[in-house]
Amino acid sequence: MMIEGGCHCGAIRYALSAPPEASMICHCRTCRGVSGAPVLAWISTTNDAFAITKGKPAQYASSPNVQRQLCAACGTQLTYAGPDYGEAIDVTTASLDDPDAFPPTHHSWLSHDIAWIKFGDGLPTFQKSRGDP
Ligand SMILES: [Zn+2]
Ligand SMILES: [Zn+2]
Repeated sequence: MMIEGGCHCGAIRYALSAPPEASMICHCRTCRGVSGAPVLAWISTTNDAFAITKGKPAQYASSPNVQRQLCAACGTQLTYAGPDYGEAIDVTTASLDDPDAFPPTHHSWLSHDIAWIKFGDGLPTFQKSRGDP
């Protein structure tokens, strides 16, 4: 099974060799800041299952010990990973060729939300990350 995606301009392409382990929508202010969008949707996979297949993404440390990869030409946010995150890597759902394939199961970081964001999709919401107290 090959799941593929890439940036808007086509300079960066990637592939997943296994289905993602999770899919969620992040409302945190860092995702908002790096994207200029009210929320970012993410699928979660592992470094083993993820590969950049074309181009070389730019890196941005949005927080200590966090590296985000993006396209330097068109700005598409692509991945989130870092040493505190182990082998896990998150990939932006909307950069997939078929984002409909992996719909989200929950919303995270509602504590940072913009007040006018209203999804109404009935999915569980969490004030921080799912699993945080
Ligand atoms: Zn691009
Ligand atoms: Zn976030």
